[in-house]
Amino acid sequence: MVEAAEQGGAAPDEILHRFHATLLKSFGPQGWWPARTPWEVIGGAILTQNTAWRNAALALKNLRKAGLLTRRAMQRASLREIELQVRPAGFYRQKARTLRHFADWIERAHGGSLSSIFRQGVERTRAQLLALKGIGPETADAIMLYAGQQPVFVADAYTRRILSRHQLLSPAADYATAQRFLHRHLPPDAPLFNEFHALLVEAAKRFCRHNVAHCERCPLGAYLERKPKLETRAFSPVSIRKHQHRQRGNSRPSRANSEFESSSFGFA
Ligand code: SF4
Repeated sequence: MVEAAEQGGAAPDEILHRFHATLLKSFGPQGWWPARTPWEVIGGAILTQNTAWRNAALALKNLRKAGLLTRRAMQRASLREIELQVRPAGFYRQKARTLRHFADWIERAHGGSLSSIFRQGVERTRAQLLALKGIGPETADAIMLYAGQQPVFVADAYTRRILSRHQLLSPAADYATAQRFLHRHLPPDAPLFNEFHALLVEAAKRFCRHNVAHCERCPLGAYLERKPKLETRAFSPVSIRKHQHRQRGNSRPSRANSEFESSSFGFA
């Protein structure tokens, strides 16, 4: 399958522009990222890996109440203390270590200045973030876009699902392929990426779910040329039990130096 096809004579740039305008008109501005400081954005991006946002939000609330949402506080606290606060987000041991690593790295490599990270340019910043333990492409890009206002599209699972159901991407397109497609067909505009990503997540949550697509009610239904084929991945009872076990934070992710499978950013 070609990466992007024209639909009804329209080029991908035009289709994406229509999607953005339609979703914005239907849902209004989403006001992402729901955080008070860049540190909270970073904490949220790490904590929401492999879990629903509501669990990450609980962990963030705990950290805030415990006064741990600053670099210095994060460095001074014991790992045990951080683990206790982030437990609702699951994988709490690894996430606590990632938060601590991040705080240590900012001090070591950037003199404690968050803005110094983002002054280096997109390529260098992204490479440095990806070299950190526990940070994968989606988390790195969320940090760059939402904490650093860098023009990097977060091509998460929700985004890929919608683009593939509209035959703009292959259903097998991975994160990097989807991101290249979006960067090629959108202007490098951080506020646009911010809003468009948030709107796509909202459309996926409301209408374009994993196992069902409510196209007849979805604002993007007008752009659909044919009913999408849905993914039919079946889960065995054993895999469901394993997933639930992992969600409780009782096992370690197998890819220790990469982002574990992300739930994407479903703020609810
Ligand atoms: S629900 Fe249907 S119309 Fe809406 S984004 Fe998904 S595939 Fe497109």
